[in-house]
Amino acid sequence: MFRTDDPAEYRRSCNELRLTGPVAFVPTMGALHEGHLTLMREAKRRAKHVAVSIFVNPTQFGPNEDLALYPRDLPGDLDKCRSVGVDVVFTPEPRSMYLPGEATRVGVEALTDELCGASRPGHFDGVCTVVSKLFCLTGECTAVFGQKDYQQLKVIQRMVADLFLPVEVVGHPIVRESDGLAMSSRNRYLDPEERTRALSLSEGLSRASLAFSEGERAPRALETLVTECLQSAGAVIDYVSCADPERLSRLPDAARPERALLAVAAFVGKTRLIDNRVLPDEAELAVVAGAGA
Ligand code: AMP
Repeated sequence: MFRTDDPAEYRRSCNELRLTGPVAFVPTMGALHEGHLTLMREAKRRAKHVAVSIFVNPTQFGPNEDLALYPRDLPGDLDKCRSVGVDVVFTPEPRSMYLPGEATRVGVEALTDELCGASRPGHFDGVCTVVSKLFCLTGECTAVFGQKDYQQLKVIQRMVADLFLPVEVVGHPIVRESDGLAMSSRNRYLDPEERTRALSLSEGLSRASLAFSEGERAPRALETLVTECLQSAGAVIDYVSCADPERLSRLPDAARPERALLAVAAFVGKTRLIDNRVLPDEAELAVVAGAGA
């Protein structure tokens, strides 16, 4: 496995790999867990070569967010990448991704108006900017993104289509702990008591999913099932939205959708967690991994 923190060297390495077969790419912020590794295995299934980036991108964090505290474990991450057969790992420093005098931002409209876009102003401009830089360096590839960040996946697909980037973006189902908690690097922040309360996100979504399967279609009723579950666990709700799965806009009261995105963001203690489910439920991977995240 080759590792570099130099953009030009990373570009060269991807170009070289492409001489002997296609490249699949998994961008990450590190602190890798089984969710990330599942994406990398999927990348390996789809292409001969796998490239991974590990970069905690400063421009996608708001001023009061957890950039400085974001978990970092480069040696552990490199071992994990090696264990799933990654070919090249790109680990740039912020100064080489954002050159002196840099003045370019990439943004996607409309799809970023609601959900995390509404509660994290500027977040998706940061994401689109860094992902477009990473795509430019990686070159033609299949890029694998998790549906855990459902809005991010849709935004990146829109950006790639609009900019004619030579990238096929594929989504991968959410990877969960055995008890249902969506895997996340931020789960490391949770103490055992918070870890238990964090289950209210996936449990609320499961209750709503069950209600949907039994015929409930009212968006506000589905949202209420999630909200009540979060509140009874003492989670502080950022949003709970029953939304159009393509446009991401919140469905009106009178809608009776055949398909809906149920998305949630909530604080458990100081940790902001997100989760979602597309109803009716699409196959989700239940990964058996010990409950202590
Ligand atoms: P991050 O390091 O959090 O920026 O995530 C990097 C990629 O891994 C993104 O495409 C995420 O959607 C994906 N990812 C993170 N957690 C999960 C999970 N539990 N299941 C599936 N994909 C995930």
